[in-house]
Formats: sequence, C-alpha cells, structure tokens
Amino acid sequence: MKFIYLIFLCLLAQAAFAQDYSDKITLVIHGGAGTITRVNMTPEKETAYREVLNTALRNGYSVLQKGGTSVQAVEAAIMVMEDSPLFNAGKGAVFTNEGKNELDAAIMEGKTLKAGAMAGVTTIKNPIRGAIAVMEKSPHVMMAGKGADQFAKEQGLQIVDPSYFYTEARFKALQKAKEQEKIELDHSENKKEIKKVSKTGYVEEEELIFTEGKKFGTVGCVALDKFGNLAAGTSTGGMTNKKYGRIGDAPIIGAGTYANNTTCAVSATGHGEFFIRSVVAYDISSLMEYKGLSLQDAANAVVMKKLVERGGEGGVIALDRNGNIAMPFNSEGMYRGFIKSDGKSQVMIYKDEK
Ligand code: ASP
Repeated sequence: MKFIYLIFLCLLAQAAFAQDYSDKITLVIHGGAGTITRVNMTPEKETAYREVLNTALRNGYSVLQKGGTSVQAVEAAIMVMEDSPLFNAGKGAVFTNEGKNELDAAIMEGKTLKAGAMAGVTTIKNPIRGAIAVMEKSPHVMMAGKGADQFAKEQGLQIVDPSYFYTEARFKALQKAKEQEKIELDHSENKKEIKKVSKTGYVEEEELIFTEGKKFGTVGCVALDKFGNLAAGTSTGGMTNKKYGRIGDAPIIGAGTYANNTTCAVSATGHGEFFIRSVVAYDISSLMEYKGLSLQDAANAVVMKKLVERGGEGGVIALDRNGNIAMPFNSEGMYRGFIKSDGKSQVMIYKDEK
C-alpha cells in the first residue's frame, strides 16, 4: 500500500513539475529550395503555392493547438504538401531516369530519438505515414523498395497505383533533363569537363545527372508541441532523372532529417548527395550540442558556409525547444513558412522576403 502511495506521489510531482510549452508551440515548413525567382514565377502559380503552404501550416498547427504531438503535427502538415501536385513529394513527385516515381520520407522524434524512414517506395500515397509506421510499428528505422511498400499495405496505409504520382509537368521536366544530358554528353569530350572542383576539393560532378533548372521541391516540417517535444519530417520524390535505386538525403537520419529535444529539429532540401556527405542535419545539432552555438549560428555555419564551400545547393528549416526558428538557404529561393503560438504566421518564397 505504501508503495502504491509512493508511486502516486511521484506521478503527482512529475505532473506538477513538467514544464508546459503551450506558449511555445511552433510549426515550420518548407516546400523545397532551388532556382525560385520572381522572373520564373507567374502570379497565379505564386498564389497557388502560397495557398498550399498556408493550408499546410494551418493543418499542422491546429494539431498542436488541440494538444496533439509534434509527430502528428508534422504528419498533418506534410500530407497537405504530399497531396498537392505543386511539390516534389507524393502526388507531383519527380521522375527517375526510367520514368518512374520513387519516393523517400523520414520522421524523427526529439524526445525518444526514435526514427522511421522509407526509401524508394512506389505505391504509398503518403510516404510520411509510411515512415511514421516504420517508427511506431516496427523494430526498424528504415525500409526500402518492395518490402517497404508491402509493410505499408500490411499497416493499412492507403496504397495507390504508381500512375497516381504522374503529373505532366514533372514528366516534361524529365524529358528536358534527358535532352540536356544528351546535349551535355555530346558537347563535352568527356564527363571530366563538367566536373568542377570546389575550394575544399569536393567534386561537383552531379551537375551532369540532375539538370532540371535545379529545383528541389522536397517538403519538410519541424514542430514543437505543448509537451516540449520536437519532431522533424521530410518527404520527397528525390531528384529529376535520378538513376534507379538512387536514394537522397531526405530519408537518411542525420542528413536530411533529424530531431533531438536537447538541440533542435531539422528538415533539409537541396542536392541530396552533398547533404548526405556533409551529414547536414546532425551537424547543425552537433554544433549546438558540442560547441554551444545558437540555432541560427549552427544552421548558418552548415548551410551558408560548409555547404557553399563544398558546392552543395539547398537549405534547411530548423527549430529549437525555445521556439527559435532558422531557415537559411544558399539557393535563389526556398518555399517556407512558420506559425507561432502568438499567432504570428508567414509564408515566404524568395530570398528578399524576411
Ligand atoms: N534533397 C532531395 C534529394 O536529394 C531533393 C530536394 O530537396 O528536392 O533527394
């Protein structure tokens, strides 16, 4: 009896001392970085992008407001962008060299450091849900290809025919990339001519493979819930004209996606090969953990310095437990937005928007 009484007292004390983060709940999203300029945009397209980004923010935030977890909020926000053909995730994903859509996604929970990822899946309507199922319903962290599709089906997730992901715009982009590739191959004596070596000696040879005006339409979300828990999620079709089986940074924990309550939550977008080699998301977290850098300084050091020196184009969204936000990108633009507990919310596309 005494023992039960003691446990009851402990639980009571825990509840009393648990910090309430209701006044800090925050949600940040991105819809990809790249050559996004006003010149390349029509007013109609811009309005459409802003509308979907706003809906994603609202849907994710309402989960947080209702007391949901950061993982649930990330799921809600990302699903809006996966379902929109405007973004390179879910419906509207880019095409591989073989003319297929192979999708990657990941989720990570900052409290438990649990994570789940799916790579190269072709039939899951919302790959972010697949990643969450891997985290919550399996003993694994990453599943790929047919097995991952099978697992999602067994978990009762919505399965679609691969043709669901088709959009004309993305298919045309593949044709354009292939034409360009052919021209480049024909006009350069060999690959070496296109290879550029950056200051740090990194070889930028991927130029040749992924030429599509350098648009990275991956989507991502980071969130802080009222329990003070961070989460990060990313979902993508990868890069136009990617080779069969190519997997980018998005589903790789520490590269394109990472969350840790003691530091931050990060979701990246950009040229995946560079983000993998630079272990971008974990590097930002580590700079905070080991060097005591602020979120903004850590994110800037990696995206605006290291990645730039190595030739890696793209950006990140990052969030810490105090509700601080960083959204650096070294490309022309990045679809992005945030919403905070004080009601302040903003959607941005171009570099000059602050
Ligand atoms: N990072 C993604 C990848 O390399 C592409 C993107 O951000 O759009 O697969």
